[in-house]
Amino acid sequence: MPALTFVEARETVLGRVRQGRTLPAIETILLAGACGRVLAADAAADRDSPALGRSVRDGYAVRSIDLPGQLEIIGEVRAGDRFAGELASGQAVEIMTGAPIPSGADAVVMIEHTRREGSRVAIPDAAGAGQFINPRGCEALAHEVLVHAGKRLDYTDIALLAAIGQARVKVYRRPVVAILPTGDEIVEVHEIPQEFQIRNSNAWSLAAQVARAGGTPEVLPVARDTVEHTRAAIARGLQADLLLLSGGVSAGKYDVVEPVLAELGAEFYFDRVLIQPGQPLVFGRASGTYFFGLPGNPYSTMVTFEILARAALELVAGQEETALHMPLARLTCDFRHKGELTRFLPARLNDGGSEVTPVSSHGSSDIPALTRANAYLVADPDRAVYARGELIRILAK
Ligand code: AMP
Ligand code: MG
Repeated sequence: MPALTFVEARETVLGRVRQGRTLPAIETILLAGACGRVLAADAAADRDSPALGRSVRDGYAVRSIDLPGQLEIIGEVRAGDRFAGELASGQAVEIMTGAPIPSGADAVVMIEHTRREGSRVAIPDAAGAGQFINPRGCEALAHEVLVHAGKRLDYTDIALLAAIGQARVKVYRRPVVAILPTGDEIVEVHEIPQEFQIRNSNAWSLAAQVARAGGTPEVLPVARDTVEHTRAAIARGLQADLLLLSGGVSAGKYDVVEPVLAELGAEFYFDRVLIQPGQPLVFGRASGTYFFGLPGNPYSTMVTFEILARAALELVAGQEETALHMPLARLTCDFRHKGELTRFLPARLNDGGSEVTPVSSHGSSDIPALTRANAYLVADPDRAVYARGELIRILAK
């Protein structure tokens, strides 16, 4: 199977999962718990918004045709109230921000631009019709769909759902993501490893990443590097909505993940991507479940989840869109890499995100270096040398 570039691998993941996914079941939950969940039914406005023309300033509601001039103040209106009468020629109503525009008025003049003289107000400047008024329905019309099914709800969506009266929200059930660590050298977190052993960190970083991306992680016991043990563990993992394996996908004698998946009838879409970390990287489908065989080095596992597996999880979760934003930042020092591969390196962004500095690291197992980073630097495959001050892509951590 040919190695894919990073862009090709991402397109493959997006294309395959979009085409082959089944949307999760739907559940109804309270609005308070809906942030971060994926909306399962279009949400429409229950009325025009605003429902009345409203003032966006404190001042006077007037008829623009009367200005400039001296007007008679016939009353006041504040937010949460409405003015019973109607403005006639030469009249004004004192108005507060958010209050409904009295009938007859077609503009609001800011209080700072007026001079009150007893029961009259002097307004020296003209005003255009509509000034400082949000007309009825300018934000949304009744029945207009405002958030579409398939959107992962953020706090602004929560504001919107609250504003349109959705105390309960239909969302997709979170997909269960099985996490299967492999390797004879791996021991559990609570164990004391021998010098030749390593604690299982990948299962827990992946569980955290899965939860952050909207899935329910299900961490399986470590699979030993034998065909029998790995087969049973993978068969169990394939019962989830998505399966993430860590380790066992290189070309070593004890890397049995790929042959076992093949034996279980898996379809493979790629098994090598021109990225570092993460060259041996398997993506496919077996028994209707998409799976990723992520390389076992901790840095590789974490990065490949973010740049490829997360997109699959988001689509499996019912999201319509998934995005990997890689904005540009200016390098604070010269930087060179081998080229040929798209490289993701630990880096620190300054406050504001305009400048980036690589974080020195001892390679793919250097977890401490990664914790000192707050972003990844993304070096392009066709470019080996970047000078200080040049722009380079970055990816938020
Ligand atoms: P592998 O991809 O199986 O060759 O694993 C590569 C290296 O990643 C191993 O030698 C371990 O050092 C490390 N590794 C594999 N699995 C884990 C894990 N679950 N937690 C932490 N490190 C791991
Ligand atoms: Mg291994």
